[in-house]
Amino acid sequence: MTLKFPAAVLRAYEDPFTVEEVTLRTEPAAGEILVEIAGSGMCRTDLAVRRSAGRSPLPAVLGHEGSGVVVRTGGGPDAVVDVGDHVVLSFDSCGRCRNCLGAAPAYCDLFASLNLFGGREEEPPRFTDATGKALAPRWFGQSSFAAYALVPARNAVRVDPTLPLELLGPLGCGFLTGAGAVLNTFGAGPGDTLTVLGAGAVGLAAVMAATAVGVRTVAVDRHPQRLALAERFGAIPLPAGTAGLPELIRRLTDGGAQYALDTTASAPLINDALQSLRPTGSLGLVARLHTALRLEPGTLDRGRSIRHICEGDAVPGLLIPRLTGLWQAGRFPFDQLIRTYPLADVNEAERDCDAGRVVKPVLLPEGTSR
Ligand SMILES: [Zn+2]
Ligand SMILES: [Zn+2]
Repeated sequence: MTLKFPAAVLRAYEDPFTVEEVTLRTEPAAGEILVEIAGSGMCRTDLAVRRSAGRSPLPAVLGHEGSGVVVRTGGGPDAVVDVGDHVVLSFDSCGRCRNCLGAAPAYCDLFASLNLFGGREEEPPRFTDATGKALAPRWFGQSSFAAYALVPARNAVRVDPTLPLELLGPLGCGFLTGAGAVLNTFGAGPGDTLTVLGAGAVGLAAVMAATAVGVRTVAVDRHPQRLALAERFGAIPLPAGTAGLPELIRRLTDGGAQYALDTTASAPLINDALQSLRPTGSLGLVARLHTALRLEPGTLDRGRSIRHICEGDAVPGLLIPRLTGLWQAGRFPFDQLIRTYPLADVNEAERDCDAGRVVKPVLLPEGTSR
């Protein structure tokens, strides 16, 4: 079988995406499924490929927040979905290392190679451009800025077919990360307090999840329009430049927040967040640090802790249904963060994302029948 379909291809780190016809050869192998993509969210990690200094191979089809309909399966032991199922695609993992076996697939030993740096190489390549030149192996196991994606079945999570399928992809990464930090890592609940630094897609998903489970939340951001969104979803808004931020947060959280989530990688904000925690409070970092992180003396005193969080500590097959259930109950309105674009407008989506004009762009492949 050979399938030809449109995809957004990144050919050079500094160039715009080009929407081209690509070719996928062969049927799904055992453990793989072919998915007709309904929508694919654009995440910061897609755009970070431009700064990967050659580590993420090109030319590549990016996109790792895909959702769609299963159109073929290769069977095999991981065949947990059937043709016609609606699925959300999440990150890739090996399923065999200690962390995968321990229900922590986001910390898979092979996470970086499988998701970011061109794992699962194929010989001969099955995914090529119109001239037959090989495209990079599947990005995050999916490469979903395209009309179709061939993915490991273990990365697909079946969802209720009455849900708005084309909007669900970001539940596989960005929204999973923010909500998972609150619900899994912190295990926050009624009476708890949380500070969220940065009200982008991840931060706002954290705010929504916190509000959904009765957590009092303070959101900090530079942009007034993002703070307004955070406030709409239940957080107390605080401008990032406010003087005496730690004292203010302590006052708003009855002596200090139990939890803080940083999505900014800003060292001054991280220090402020630590100083605003109550004793034994914990801070989670989700953004990649690009410089050494200097902590002010005393910031980790009294049992405070700091750790990195990948993909919201989620097992996607458990957390995604929980998030769609909260959405159906009107308590996790993630669709309000999304603006859709035709796949052909991928470069406009990137510009809007960079300029902060959109929280979460979702690309819709043209010609997808729905
Ligand atoms: Zn693994
Ligand atoms: Zn992502």
